Amino acid sequence: MQQNSRRKFLQSTAKAAAIITVSSTAASSILQSCAAPKAMLKTATITTGFTQQPLPYTYTALQPVIDAKTMEIHYTKHAAAYSKALLEAAQAEGIDSSKPLENVLAKIDKYSIKLRNNAGGHYNHEMFWKSLQPKQNSNLPTGKVAKAINENFGSFDTFKTQFTEAAKTRFGSGWAWLYVDAPNKLKIGSTPNQDNPLMNVSDVKGFPLLGLDVWEHAYYLQYQNKRADYIENWWSIINWNYVESRFVSKI
Ligand code: MN
Repeated sequence: MQQNSRRKFLQSTAKAAAIITVSSTAASSILQSCAAPKAMLKTATITTGFTQQPLPYTYTALQPVIDAKTMEIHYTKHAAAYSKALLEAAQAEGIDSSKPLENVLAKIDKYSIKLRNNAGGHYNHEMFWKSLQPKQNSNLPTGKVAKAINENFGSFDTFKTQFTEAAKTRFGSGWAWLYVDAPNKLKIGSTPNQDNPLMNVSDVKGFPLLGLDVWEHAYYLQYQNKRADYIENWWSIINWNYVESRFVSKI
């Protein structure tokens, strides 16, 4: 893709992210529903603020894929710490925390490493919680994102294989991503630490649709060193309606 049109796409992505808002109550109802009407999906909350939002389900809701203790520690300790440190860093660095966090991520190189780590940590986890739901026996994408996955990767199975590989091979701590690189162009990649594709410092740049946390804190209590098992089981708890709502906001 031409650099100019790609830059324009990324700019429009940031603008679109800034104007799509809806109340958190409406967002929660979408997240709790497996069959949200398409009209609702179009207005789902895509932008992210600076404070930690309530978990959209209980700590036990994702069992047996993710155990309750992991969920509780992950949400109340790890993710909460990122959110708290983000607010501290934002205040220290003169950032308006009433604006969407996406604006900061797009120029993250202007700020401290503390801001980068915690803005990423907060954003990634806020997105991660929303992208999960109780285990489904047959859990496949539907709608426009399903079509785009087939068009870009050939089939869902090919996509799953490639995403799984990205998650398994991310050395150390980080995230695997499905992201929009350009209109209707989907890509798979991974980032170290708490970086994400919205950051201007990231090797993989675009709008994230789905992210998988492969830090050991996300799975170690239940899976120990078996990251591959955690990844395989995770496919059954993806909230594809949420992924669709993120994708639809870009088309
Ligand atoms: Mn995490």
